[in-house]
Amino acid sequence: APVIVWFRKDLRADDNAALSAAAEMGRPVIALYIREPAELGTGPLGAAQAWWVHHALASLAATLEELGTPLVLRSGDAHAVLDHVIEETGADTVHWNRRHDPAGIAVDTPIKAALKVRGLAVRSFAGQLLHDPTRLMTGEKKPYRVYTPFWKALEREGEPHEPVDAPERLHTPKRLPQSEALDDWALLPAKPDWAAAFGEVWTPGEKAARERLDTFVNGPIEDYKTDRDRPAIDATSLLSPHLASGEISPARIWHATRGLEAPREDVIHFRKELAWREFCHHLHFHFPALAERNWNDRFDDFPWEGSDRDFDLWTKGMTGYPIVDAGMRQLWRHGWVHNRVRMITASFLIKHLMIDWRRGEKWFRDTLVDADAASNPANWQWVAGSGADASPFFRIFNPILQGEKFDPDGTYVRTFVPELRKLDSAWIHKPFDAPESALAEAGVELGRTYPKPIVDHASARQRALAAYKALKSD
Ligand code: FAD
Repeated sequence: APVIVWFRKDLRADDNAALSAAAEMGRPVIALYIREPAELGTGPLGAAQAWWVHHALASLAATLEELGTPLVLRSGDAHAVLDHVIEETGADTVHWNRRHDPAGIAVDTPIKAALKVRGLAVRSFAGQLLHDPTRLMTGEKKPYRVYTPFWKALEREGEPHEPVDAPERLHTPKRLPQSEALDDWALLPAKPDWAAAFGEVWTPGEKAARERLDTFVNGPIEDYKTDRDRPAIDATSLLSPHLASGEISPARIWHATRGLEAPREDVIHFRKELAWREFCHHLHFHFPALAERNWNDRFDDFPWEGSDRDFDLWTKGMTGYPIVDAGMRQLWRHGWVHNRVRMITASFLIKHLMIDWRRGEKWFRDTLVDADAASNPANWQWVAGSGADASPFFRIFNPILQGEKFDPDGTYVRTFVPELRKLDSAWIHKPFDAPESALAEAGVELGRTYPKPIVDHASARQRALAAYKALKSD
């Protein structure tokens, strides 16, 4: 009888334990992807990620086809779909790679129990994380709430599993279940095609993920520690969207950083970022409310201003602060933003505009190709000061100084805010302080070609600090 391999956020053949175990059984494999109801939050998290998943599925289908079996696409409640496919094909075994997010667990647990009762073999495998979230616990068997001891525990745990190569061949079942057409799923934007520029930077699929990894470990990783904060430089791995859709496993990435000639401190620093992903996912597993509620409930009383107008200008990259605007426009154009600039834009929304982090989190979720149910809220809460091991609220990023420090010649701003392209570097992060002559020379007219600041930095800072102080003394 055939084995069903249910693909979820593991759209790869490489280091896919569920798939490899099925191949080893020598039985026909039914590769199945289910488009679950969107409200469950188990599929693409937003519109930008839906674009990604469309292409990732097309790529996975091609890979599996080469290996000998087609990818079957179905929509609906996962349990009902699995029942149908079992009936259509006579499959007696179901494999999947474990998901650790609360939404995924809520779907998988009852399915596993029900299928087992009916006598089917259900086998779930690890591989989406470096280590299982129940493995890394404190001495008192509690989850870690602070990153540094978590990292130490991760180091103590030793290397993650050795990645397994994709199976060489898969057997096609005689009776194939019906499949839907990917194009009918409408995962791609209708008109207007707001994702038109995504292709400038992204190629979804596991082949492209491996190429990114190779490029990174053979170059940028050597200067990772110093350059990773510079948004104008391609200094980071750009693997996040591939990881989010599971086109590459974190273990594959980890092992690719072994035995490199790159300085040890750069390699460790990179691994520490992978460990941040791991920390976010473990936190979310142990504390599902992390995604919606303030980790630190003192923030529940925060007096958010929440102006819709300000929120709208933030999303459009029209705040009048060039580094913020460049980041928000990069997000719209490419579905991705550099980490340093994510911190700056998030901080600006929360602290300068006093808008609840949850609104920003939701916007990012819809517009990021790497939108992740754990990393996104965990990082938003980190910036907001409400999160686990968070940056303190009173540390308020100054968008001018951040711009000058991390984008010193303004290359990043010029890329995404072309109306400032000709402005002298001295003023590129603060056009509002530039003399008339410098603005005129660059063809900039504040309030007309580029907005005046929607808030004044110094007073916004005071307002945020006062609100925080009131909260503290409650
Ligand atoms: P690299 O620097 O090459 O890092 C390698 C990998 O480590 C990344 O691919 C990612 O998987 C992981 N990583 C790095 N930094 C972090 C971090 N701070 N938290 C968790 N994992 C990290 N990352 C997401 O994957 N999805 C999100 O939805 C997301 N939302 C964010 C929201 C905010 C407000 C902030 C400040 C950060 C967010 N991040 C998110 C984390 C980080 O910005 C991205 O993972 C990183 O920019 C991806 O680029 P890269 O792959 O080149 O990273």
